[in-house]
Formats: sequence, C-alpha cells, structure tokens
Amino acid sequence: MIENNKFSELFERQKANQFNIGNTTYKERIKKLKKLKKALEYTYKKDIRDAIFADFKKPFLETDLTELYLVIKEIKVAVSNLKNWTENQKVETPLTLLGTSSWIKYEPKGVCLIISPWNYPVNLTFSPLVSAIAAGNTVIIKPSELTPNTSKIMAKIVSDVFTEDEIALVEGEVEVAQELLKLPFNHIFFTGSPTVGKIVMEAASKNLTSVTLELGGKSPTIIDETANVNKAVKNLVWGKYLNTGQTCIAPDYLLVHESKKDEFLKAFKRKAEYYYSNDSLKSDSFGRVVNEKHFNRLVSYITSAKESGATIEMGGDYNQEDKFIEPTVISNINEDHALLQEEIFGPILPIKTYKHIDEVVTYVNSKERPLALYIYSNSNKNVNYVINNTRAGGTCINTIALHLSNHGLPFGGSNNSGIGKTHGYFGFQDFSNQRAVLKKYTIGPLNFLFPPYTNWKQKIVDLAIKWF
Ligand code: NAD
Repeated sequence: MIENNKFSELFERQKANQFNIGNTTYKERIKKLKKLKKALEYTYKKDIRDAIFADFKKPFLETDLTELYLVIKEIKVAVSNLKNWTENQKVETPLTLLGTSSWIKYEPKGVCLIISPWNYPVNLTFSPLVSAIAAGNTVIIKPSELTPNTSKIMAKIVSDVFTEDEIALVEGEVEVAQELLKLPFNHIFFTGSPTVGKIVMEAASKNLTSVTLELGGKSPTIIDETANVNKAVKNLVWGKYLNTGQTCIAPDYLLVHESKKDEFLKAFKRKAEYYYSNDSLKSDSFGRVVNEKHFNRLVSYITSAKESGATIEMGGDYNQEDKFIEPTVISNINEDHALLQEEIFGPILPIKTYKHIDEVVTYVNSKERPLALYIYSNSNKNVNYVINNTRAGGTCINTIALHLSNHGLPFGGSNNSGIGKTHGYFGFQDFSNQRAVLKKYTIGPLNFLFPPYTNWKQKIVDLAIKWF
C-alpha cells in the first residue's frame, strides 16, 4: 500500500528523522516556534492578509484577530510553558512498590498528519502545528483546496522556516488527503466536517493511528426570560456574522424565550445595521461565502424556507456574482427544514421560541452534541439547569466564542462535534505519548512473590489486597 503512495518517500524521510526531532531540547523547540512567529507576525503578514482576502474577502482586521493573533498567542503560551510541559512528571509510589520511583515522560507521537479546513485556514493549520512542534513531532500538512491562495502562502512559510524532513506542506485536492491517509502516521489531527471526520477515523483505524478530530455541527444559543437583550446582541451579532457566519463555533440557531422575541429582533436588527450598515454589500466589515457550491447551498436554504412559509425577519438578499449573502434572520421554520437539521455555516440565523427551559434542554438533546452551547441569562438556576442537562464541547455564558481564545481552556467537541482537545497544554498532550516509566532501586516487598507460590506468599497477597 505504502509503496504505491506518492507521499511515502516524504513520510519515510520524516520517519527516519523523528528521533532527531523528538530528542530536541525545549530550548531548541522554542527557537523554531519563535522563527514561525516572526514569519507570521512580520515577514508574511501582508501576504497572509492578501491571500485570505483573495480567497473570501475576509476583512484584514478579522484576519489579524482570528488567524494571526490566535496562532501567535498559541506560540506565546507554548514558549512560556514548554519547560514545564516537557519535564518528567513524578508520580507517587505506593507502599507495595517501595524501592522504586515512577514518572511520566512526555514523548512525541512521531510522524503526524494535520488536515485543515478552509474557514480559518491559517489559524487551523498553524495552531495545531505549534502543539505538534512543541511536543517534538515531524509533520505533514494538507490544507484545504478551497482556499488556494492561502494554501500557497502557507506552503511558502513552511518551506522557508522548516526542512521537509521535519515539517512539509502538500497542496492539492481531496485525493491528496486520501493518499496521505493511507500512510501509517503516529497521529492524525483533523479539523473539518463530521462527515469527513468519520472517513479520517476509518482510515486511521487501519493503522491504529490515534486521532484528534475537531469537527462541527449545530451550536445552539439560548436567550432566556431574564437575559439582558441589548447587551446580548452586541456579541451575538458579531459572533454570528464573523467570517460571514463560516465559523465552527458560530451560533447556528437561536432559542429565545417567547417573552423576549420582539425585543430581541428589534435589538438584533439595530445592531446588525450599525455593524454592517443598511447596505452590507458595501461594508468593509463583512466578507463573502467561500465558493459557488456553498453559496448555492445557503441561498437554497433561504428560498426554500420562504416557499415553505417561514418569515424572513432580517436580510434575505444575495448577490450571485459576488458570492454575497446579507446577514439574515429567519423564524417560523418547519422543524424538518435543512436550516434546523444541517450545520448552516453561513450568515443565516434561524430562531425558535420556547415557553419553558425544559423545552430547550429537550430540543438541544434531540440533536447531536454541539461544539459550543451559549446561554444568555441572569438566572443561575437556568444556566446551571441547561449546563447540567446537556453536553457540549464548550460553553460561554452571556457571550459568544470567547472560550476559544483562552488557551488555558481545552478546545474541542464531544462525539459528533469532535474527539480530543487542543490549545495550550491540551494540544501539547494530544501530540504526545504519555510514557509510563518505573525504575527499581532496591529490593521491595514484591520480590518475595515469585514462584513457587507457597502458602505464606498467598498470605502476603491476601494482606496486600486488604491493606494496600
Ligand atoms: P471538510 O471536512 O469538507 O474538509 C476539511 C479537510 O478535509 C480539507 O483539507 C479537505 O481537503 C479534506 N477532505 C475533504 N473530503 C475528504 C475526504 N473524502 N477524504 C479525506 N479528506 C477530505 O470541511 P471544510 O468544509 O473545509 O470545513 C467546514 C467544517 O469544518 C464545518 O463542519 C466546521 O464546523 C468544521 N470546523 C471545525 C472546527 C473545529 O475547530 N472544531 C474549526 C473549523 C471548521
């Protein structure tokens, strides 16, 4: 299988080099991370902004904040903590093992594969790479084919900063990922859709390769009867339409208490108009849908919702040539409509009302486990009730998406929205094997327990079970 694979030679070179890279000191790894930081922060900053703009007209400020800042922060966190992270961790010695000592050695997984999506192409390629480098791995990267300008500039950065036998980036279509997935990597870090996540996990199972899967899904947002609606819309509008709604942790749909619906709609429209003007096509703060296929999918959501009697509460217009879709809010949607069944991944917010918080929990739990769940509320009782009776990768209370930018928190999903965690120490852990090491110094109690198994040895075992 590997012999026929056009990437096997590259893989073999990295495999041969893995112990050189794995045995680098934390100081050597920090040097590499700083080199990457310099490339992103200075040398290639303009090229990155231009490339992402060429791919989907992402505003420069959004690129700086959600791509560059987040990777640079990931590097800073790794640089400040790498000494601690890489040190052997001593663990307690039980009485039965007297005369020994034990520790955990964080060793690199080895040769890793990172497959990244298009929606935050720089962040979601380089952030996991930072964790992989911090842990001492070699890496092959396959970025998305949907953002070719960005992939090209990332390939340049990688070849400028690293040698191919340590880190290599291969551009190309889905087939490239499929070829790479046949190789016996030691770890695969995949960010993308749950559908492709399943393909990745199946391929990984052939080699028993460990996986981190950062997936997506429908992230609910709840506004209860106690919420401050005016405050809520401030970051809710931003969080929904950031990156043109093409964000894995964007609020996918809103559940609003029926007593707050009118107030919410008024405040939300006012805020959206303030952020993007009443002609968002001309706004410099609002991007575009990544390609024709996704544009058509999103437009079909709007037109079919209208046809089936839903109410367009805000927006709803689009421009095919520019792949532009207005910030849109839709209510009165049939439950079986795609807007309430599929991950939207665009600037459309479906809303539903509810009467009692129980309905929220039942509704959320009727769907796959989300990557994020947001709740706006001034009632601790409601917040705790929702958190304790649902499951999600992460949650923000009275804000949107900010849990992602605290690198002290693990980032990742739960089942359908992902397996494994990333960011800071959690990313370092996912790219490391926790090797258990025990060293014997002197004769300990267990030394008497070798065969032949006599009665007095049986008594010692009985005592050990009872007392230690
Ligand atoms: P995608 O799953 O279509 O593609 C992701 C990557 O997988 C790309 O590099 C692509 O080339 C590759 N790929 C596609 N089909 C493949 C196949 N059959 N075999 C092997 N590789 C294949 O995802 P996308 O459209 O790029 O991104 C959108 C999805 O990613 C959404 O579901 C979103 O929620 C999710 N996402 C999750 C996170 C997170 O951190 N959890 C972040 C961003 C996006």
